[in-house]
Amino acid sequence: MKKKGRTSAAFLSLATLVALAACGPKGPSAEQTADAIYVGGDIVTVNESQPTAEALAVKDGKILAVGTRAEIEAAHQGASTQVADLAGKTMVPAFLDTHGHYINSLSVANQAKVYAPPAGPGQDVPSILEAIERFRVEKNVPKGELIQAYGYDENVMPDGRLLNRDDLDGAFPDNPVIVGHVSMHGGVLNSAALDMYGISAETETPPGGVIVRKPGTNEPYGLIMETAYLPVFGGLPKPSPEQEVELTKAGQMLYAEAGITLAHEGATKADELAVMQRATAGGANIIDVVAYPFMTDWDAILETTPLDTWGKYDRRLKIGGVKITADGSPQGKTAYFTTPYLTGGPGGEKNWRGEPTVPQDLLNQLVERAYEMDVPMILHINGDATVDMFLEAYENAREGDFSRPWNVTTIHTQFMRKDHIPKFAEYKIRPSFYTLHTFYFAEAHRLNRGAQQAAYISPMRDAIDAGLHPTNHTDFYVAPLDQMFMMWSAVNRMSREGYVVGEDQRITPMEALKSQTIWAAEQYDEADRRGSLEPGKIADLVILSDNPLTVEPMAIKDIKVLETIKDGKTIYKAD
Ligand SMILES: [Zn+2]
Repeated sequence: MKKKGRTSAAFLSLATLVALAACGPKGPSAEQTADAIYVGGDIVTVNESQPTAEALAVKDGKILAVGTRAEIEAAHQGASTQVADLAGKTMVPAFLDTHGHYINSLSVANQAKVYAPPAGPGQDVPSILEAIERFRVEKNVPKGELIQAYGYDENVMPDGRLLNRDDLDGAFPDNPVIVGHVSMHGGVLNSAALDMYGISAETETPPGGVIVRKPGTNEPYGLIMETAYLPVFGGLPKPSPEQEVELTKAGQMLYAEAGITLAHEGATKADELAVMQRATAGGANIIDVVAYPFMTDWDAILETTPLDTWGKYDRRLKIGGVKITADGSPQGKTAYFTTPYLTGGPGGEKNWRGEPTVPQDLLNQLVERAYEMDVPMILHINGDATVDMFLEAYENAREGDFSRPWNVTTIHTQFMRKDHIPKFAEYKIRPSFYTLHTFYFAEAHRLNRGAQQAAYISPMRDAIDAGLHPTNHTDFYVAPLDQMFMMWSAVNRMSREGYVVGEDQRITPMEALKSQTIWAAEQYDEADRRGSLEPGKIADLVILSDNPLTVEPMAIKDIKVLETIKDGKTIYKAD
């Protein structure tokens, strides 16, 4: 201890001498000299004790000071300081992804994006073919090589005119092509791709699978789903270690472009963690990545990555805790409810309430084990019956003793009931919501669940009013990484059809910003080092084209990310 003290004292005086030599007696000391000072725009700190500022100083990847321009320049501007003019734009803390599937970014970074508008260009068959052709030309894909696309949504195709193999054969005669379905559970294949996987008129449809046939024939017509798609999925080319590094960088740039400096890998299998660890060792990480081992793979992961290494970053990769999935999705009618779906089951079942992924006793065991491991836990729960099951498992694990803090986040929590909120507040359980569904799936939820229950999805207002700090997520790549569109959905709750979904659950732009910055940092046990613009925190910053707190709420979705800064360095700049 003593020795360390002397060393830093020596460093201090040396640093002071250097500073004096460099800047003359009036400049700040080297320690107080900023690498960069940002001025000339709105600076939204998300720090209640100092909500706005004129200037922000950065040094060695950390925020050195926040304050008035005169104050900051006098105290921290030296000869080497770069003064960066925000030119009327807005600086906010970098966004933290609070739930998504980061590992998919590695594959989609090398695929054509064909999401439906407004997320992408895929409004009909011609626009999808055009987007893939643009990608083929841009990437200079050689003849014979597989072309992949992602985000195909047949629900929005006009007049029921769906994408088929003939469309793809006509446009891409020289390449196998797979256009991934937005659900991530299937895709449309052209003839060359069907040949690659040996899928033909003779192929029988496996139980639980879908092979759409050309009308009047037994010929596959392109779309393959569920169990029939598994061999395709499993047979996709595996990248080499060098490619893993390149794909990781490309995948993380998708986050950087969206202003995100922490990616969430929300259901990590052992082989996926191995990919992430190899890429990390290869120096690939541009942003931070937090992985949550999936309930099927805890033991396999513990064998290679012991518990005492969890919760700490190793070259920007951290294991955040464990993941449990307790039900499915409400739009897929696999979320589990206490009351039946108004439209029956996915296979036409009557009185269908959905089903839990695991029975209550197994859920209890999993939650108990997570509590014993003493790590943060995230759980996928959607239907109200699954929220009941989760609370029972939680109370069972706690055995009446709530004294030990336990960082628990429920993922989606879309159909929690009003009576669940006080329990969450009492137990300090953080709901992570999915307000994008108020835009994408409002009509499906209204038909399936009734207007009243559908209007209460992702009840952010009630959660905040109960004292909770909920977060909000995209579930990438189910929805695209677009934090401003997500913020817009939390503030406006406007459906694709143009009606407001649960007006009383709308939140303010500041609350929406907190849900993806400082409250998100709490989810990662990192509120002391990120999530707001305060001295000593890491300099993870985003420059936006406009101020989300002052623009017309409906215009929040039009705000663009202009620049993303990680640890004081620009990692993305819009051109
Ligand atoms: Zn998810």
